[in-house]
Formats: sequence, structure tokens, C-alpha cells
Amino acid sequence: MELTNKRRLYPTKAQERALFSHADHSKHLWNEFVMEGTERYQVGKGFFNDAEMNSRLTELRADHAYYAEMPIKAQRGVIAKLYRALTHPKNRLPCVKDKKDRSCSIIYREFGKWNGKTVRLPKVGKVRWRGRELPAKLASEIKVFRAKNGNWYGCVSYKIPETKPNASGEIVGVDLNADCLALSNGKKHLVSQMKNLCWLVSKRNRILARREKGSGRWRKMRRLIARTHDRIARKRDAFLHQTAGKILAVADGVCIENLMVKNQTRKGKGSRKRGMNRVILNAAFGKTRRLLEYKAKIAGVPVFVADTFFPSSKICFHCGKKNPNLGAEKRWTCPHCHRTLDRDFNAALNLAREGARIASGLGAKGAWSACKSAASLNLAVAVRDEARSILTPQGVV
Ligand SMILES: [Zn+2]
Repeated sequence: MELTNKRRLYPTKAQERALFSHADHSKHLWNEFVMEGTERYQVGKGFFNDAEMNSRLTELRADHAYYAEMPIKAQRGVIAKLYRALTHPKNRLPCVKDKKDRSCSIIYREFGKWNGKTVRLPKVGKVRWRGRELPAKLASEIKVFRAKNGNWYGCVSYKIPETKPNASGEIVGVDLNADCLALSNGKKHLVSQMKNLCWLVSKRNRILARREKGSGRWRKMRRLIARTHDRIARKRDAFLHQTAGKILAVADGVCIENLMVKNQTRKGKGSRKRGMNRVILNAAFGKTRRLLEYKAKIAGVPVFVADTFFPSSKICFHCGKKNPNLGAEKRWTCPHCHRTLDRDFNAALNLAREGARIASGLGAKGAWSACKSAASLNLAVAVRDEARSILTPQGVV
């Protein structure tokens, strides 16, 4: 499988100028190709293909000094990007990038020598970079871009061998909540709301509103806000990466819900729903799932996804009956077997059971009996025992 590593670049002032001009040129070339291609398309000749764009580039480089000055590796990157856009399943005609487009990115189809400290970029030179240790062999392409906070980043990819999933052992159910990630093995990872940083963002936004738009101080404040947002994002990322790693370190299989974040965070009436949406989005369910899935592939852990309509919260783990009247309460008592349940752990345990069911290939009907013969279904006995102690702190009625 292919992994991509995003790492911070530290160009000098002169190198930054070169990167800016390459990015500008990339945009210019993209527009050139899009406009010419669209004209061709309108007269029924069809858009450029890969080879046509390359031969057109050779012509442009021969005719104009401006094109010849720019690194051909970045120009090839534009062609590759355009080709990818054209062959994308959505298959729309690419758009011209106008003044509003403030993105600043370059794809170099090849780059020079690199080590842990520096990388040689075409017509830029040795740029300092920093990040995790990389394998000896990288893919030839590098994407360089400038984030909104003014930092430069480089993305390089490499291949690693995939471990074949082994579905024996303990399946851990992961219940995603806005405030925590509950695991069926009795652990909870609390999600931080980062209230201090959010407060800082809103305060700085108020300051920004008072400054004259377009002025130097306004620009400075805008950049500061972008940096605060970046800090929040990096903090969240660190938490998600670490938590996903921790979950996979103890699990032999993972079962997660298939949540519809888009539906959950629909616009509602009033500030309450807005606040709720913010909390849900802060927990980053989609990213959690993506990280779990790709890390599981590396570790050789199978990931099972429960159906969207699987009522993980509403089913009682003990008697298997559904409580359709369940509200938002964190603890509830089962109306059938009268046990008191922790909402998050109960959902996680149900997911673990659902995972075991999917793994064993049993039908929906088999779910309940599957849990009864948990040992044969690899739902570890320890999980059940631990679950019992968590789920019934007030004793069985
Ligand atoms: Zn019950």
C-alpha cells in the first residue's frame, strides 16, 4: 500500500521567492492548457490528452523564454494534475484558476537527492525539511504547498508491504461519541473540546473585525487566526493518530459504526444546534475512521463496519432487546432486564458483538447466539467479564 508523508519545509527567503514563482507559473500553465483545451472541446476536437499536452509544452518551451526558464519537472506536474482531473470519475471540464484562487502549490514530478534534513528541489536548491524517518525509497513525485498560516509543506509518498489481516482474537468495538471514544475493552479516550484555543479564535476574530480591511494590521491578525486554527487542527490530529495507534495495539479486530456525519450535522434552528454541530465535527468521526482503517491495514488488523442503521446504543448488551425510547442520557436502565448500563460502553460492546458476527459470517439472526458461544467466535471471555463489571456496578437485579 502507498503512504503519504506530509512534512514541514523551511525554505530561505530566496528559495521562497523561487517557490512562489513556480507556483504562479504552475497556475498560469494550468490556465493556458484549460483555455486551449476548452476551445478544442467546443469545436468538437476533444480535450487534450496526456501526449498532446506534453508536445504542446515542448512547443511552448521552444518559443518562449518564459516557459523555458521554469523547471520542466514542475510543468510536467501540471500536466499530470490536469490529466488526473480529466480522468477523474466526476469527469467535468477543469476550471480556470482566477484571482480568487489563493492556493499556492507545485507538483514536481521528480526531485533530487534527499536525506533526513534536506531535499533538493528543481531550480530551488537544497531546502531544509523535518518530519518522521522515511524509508530509503520514495516515489519520484513531491507536492509542495504553502498552507494558509504561511508554512510550507512537502508531501512525499512511499510503498510499504501490507500485512494480511488475521481475524482471530479479540474484536474491539469502538463507539464514536462527540465527547469520547469508548472501547468494548473498558477504556475511554476523552476528546478535548479545546475551549481555550476556540476562545482565542473568537477573540481574535473580534479584533479582526475592528481593523481596517486590507491594512497591514488586518493582514497580520488574519494570519494569526489562521495559525490558531492550524494549532487546533494539529492538536486534534495528534490525538486521533495516537488514539488510533493505542486501539490497534490491543485489538485483533476492530468494529466501528458507519456514521452519517453529514446528516448529523445538518443545519438546525438556533445556536444550540450550531454548537452541537461544532462538537460533533470537532470529534472528527470521518478522520478517526480513515486513520483506523489505514493503520489497521499496516498492522494486519481487520476492520468491520456495522450497518448505518445498526442500533448500537439502543440494544441492551445483556438481554439483546431493544429500547426504542432511549433518549440522550448517559446511563440508562434496561426496561426488560432492569440492568443499569453505561451508554457508551454498552454501544461499544454491541459493536464488538456485531463485529464478531460479521467476522463469523452469520446472519442477523445469528447475532445473539453468536455472542452466547463467544469463545468460539473469538469474542474474548475477558472482554465479557470486564464488561460485566463495568456495566453492572449496582449489581444485577
Ligand atoms: Zn436488558
